Amino acid sequence: MNRAQSEILFAEALKYIPGGVNSPVRAFRAVGGHPFFVTKASGSHLWDADGNQLLDYVLTWGPAILGHAHPKIIAAVKAAADQGTSFGIPNPLEVTMAKLICERVPSVRKVRMTNSGTEACMSAIRLARGFTRRDKIIKFDGCYHGHADSLLVRAGSGALTFGQPDSAGVPAAFTQHTIVLPFNDVEAVKAAFAANKNDIAGIIIEPVPGNAGLYLPQPGYLEFLSEITQANGALLIFDEVMTGFRLAKGGAQERFNIIPDLSSFGKVIGGGLPVGAFGGRAEIMDFLAPLGPVYQAGTLSGNPLAMAAGIANLEELASAEFGARTPEKNAVRADIAAIPHSPLRTPHLDAYARLEELGAQLEAGMNDAAACAKVPVRFNRCGSMFCGYFTSHPVHNVADAMKSDRERFKKYFHGMLNEGVYLAPSQFEAGFISTAHTAADIEQTVRSAAKVLRTL
Ligand SMILES: *Cc1c(COP(=O)(O)O)cnc(C)c1O
Repeated sequence: MNRAQSEILFAEALKYIPGGVNSPVRAFRAVGGHPFFVTKASGSHLWDADGNQLLDYVLTWGPAILGHAHPKIIAAVKAAADQGTSFGIPNPLEVTMAKLICERVPSVRKVRMTNSGTEACMSAIRLARGFTRRDKIIKFDGCYHGHADSLLVRAGSGALTFGQPDSAGVPAAFTQHTIVLPFNDVEAVKAAFAANKNDIAGIIIEPVPGNAGLYLPQPGYLEFLSEITQANGALLIFDEVMTGFRLAKGGAQERFNIIPDLSSFGKVIGGGLPVGAFGGRAEIMDFLAPLGPVYQAGTLSGNPLAMAAGIANLEELASAEFGARTPEKNAVRADIAAIPHSPLRTPHLDAYARLEELGAQLEAGMNDAAACAKVPVRFNRCGSMFCGYFTSHPVHNVADAMKSDRERFKKYFHGMLNEGVYLAPSQFEAGFISTAHTAADIEQTVRSAAKVLRTL
């Protein structure tokens, strides 16, 4: 695959941008080589600066759930732009967006918009601390909640030690109130509450962690977190920046039937524009300025272009219908079924059922391909999010994820890229499927994977 133009652009980028990128994973450090530059995207595909076409499972890290450049989103953004790009005073689209989020996510009675998922999580934490008048926060090893200082911590040396910052430039004092625990470990959470009576403001968690690959909460785990926070006067914060409006219409909390106190959002709600949001119980949200003592603000928050894109995305997700589930075999019945409102009309899939179907197709195909190639692969999936780990061990947390053979992943990544399939350039990222992906796209992916896996 010729990438001459991308190489020229990257050399130029390195002169002016640290590492040549505006967000670190894009630099391909985890897989080796240089990133390609994208000039156009549509549906399930990207085109790079050299004109190569790639089938995309990164989907701008999640937002493009309807595929790239969905015509309704593009039209909404153009129409909004014609009216002006920012007002800095309330605009009607903000109300439409807030109402949409509150209707879809029952735990959210009030919501505030931000410009990124990082801001949303940072503000949700501040609000939890202000509301409970407590300082300590529990987060889980391997969960990412953006790059705010107090959340940029992985594991301390022991389960109950206070966190050490992941990044230079974060004073240890800023993370001394962050308790980092292993995911899916009930006892560790119980011990943390016992050791910090009346000090824990809340737990922040990705209900389905997608920032160390992808693994699922074990049955009962999220329910347990809900109970223990309630029993201790602490708040449960679901970071649904990745899972919100992706795993179900109401996010992971709908899928797993849990009511958190606060939630943060991003990615899908922006339809590809820079957006975040956090919301929850009204009495907690009313602690925010100007009503309450917790300060939070944003010059561009509720930006009309971002609101227009997000509203179009959410509305299309709720109303779009996809291919027939069971095609009518009997010709006469099929004719009757074709009449609109006919009781025989073949049921169509909504967006989430369609994503589930494509996800299941990919999972089955990948498991077959790995078995045929005799390569140990653990393919984890939840709806349209997935990750294949190169290990025979089940993966339930970050320690399990670390068992994956990363040298194998590197070869697999580049092999797939040469086949025209773009996966996230790190073993520790989730893959995404959009409604623009077709069964034929998935088939092509599985065929490519079967071929590449045999060379590992
Ligand atoms: C992407 C992500 C964030 C950060 O959002 P940004 O918009 O990149 O700041 C926070 N939490 C989770 C779970 C994410 O996946």
